[in-house]
Amino acid sequence: MEQLLFWKAVVCGGVFVVLFAAERLARAAPAPESSARLFRNFGLWLIVLLASPLIVAPITAFGANHLIWARDPALAAGMIGVAVLIIDIILLDLWTYWLHRAYHRVPVMWRLHEVHHRDEFLDTTSAVRFHLGEVVLSAVLRLIPITVLATPLTTVIIFEAVILASALFHHSNVKLPRGIERWLSYVVVTPSIHWVHHHAVRADTNANYAAFLSVWDRVFGSRSKTRRMPDMKIGAEGIEDLSFSGLLLAPMMRKPS
Ligand SMILES: [Zn+2]
Repeated sequence: MEQLLFWKAVVCGGVFVVLFAAERLARAAPAPESSARLFRNFGLWLIVLLASPLIVAPITAFGANHLIWARDPALAAGMIGVAVLIIDIILLDLWTYWLHRAYHRVPVMWRLHEVHHRDEFLDTTSAVRFHLGEVVLSAVLRLIPITVLATPLTTVIIFEAVILASALFHHSNVKLPRGIERWLSYVVVTPSIHWVHHHAVRADTNANYAAFLSVWDRVFGSRSKTRRMPDMKIGAEGIEDLSFSGLLLAPMMRKPS
């Protein structure tokens, strides 16, 4: 397990470094260099990184140790094991899609998720800009699919790596060849899809919820017709970004809208 966590950190750290550098060499949209914004995003990430081993990881481990049924060990062996792993990742991705919809539709959940959407520009650092409350709530709610599906802990860790790498990619400001991005978008969520989710227009913010596989928005009718433009206003309609301390306190201060 420690080895898997090590490789998760190496792979996601590598993806972060490569994309962070690439989006500064080849930008898709003009980037306002704001050290204050980077401080806010990295600050929120640091809190999550420090709290995860103490709060988030134990929640997931608790779920993995309290499954409501046990899988046949044969399901984890050989090619069958690979097929089951892929199905598990697809199902957890489906869960993540509906959880993201809930964060937008349930006012008390939006209070937490709004911290992510207040970012007024997007790059790889936006992918790690989440309020600790949202990360903890997501871990608690994820106990539902983990216990119902009897998902192995190793699969959850692999899924977390997939989702983080995907989030780093689809928030990034890397300029990709249009043809490659278009083909990728048929399978996975690309920046052209997810940037529209951060368009400061409520109809677009409440669309394009998919986190890894792009198919869910088409299946469940939540794909926006808006095309990403380099100069589109990023943020949440009607609200502005806050200071670091303001972001930490925002979920407790605002009334649900
Ligand atoms: Zn969202």
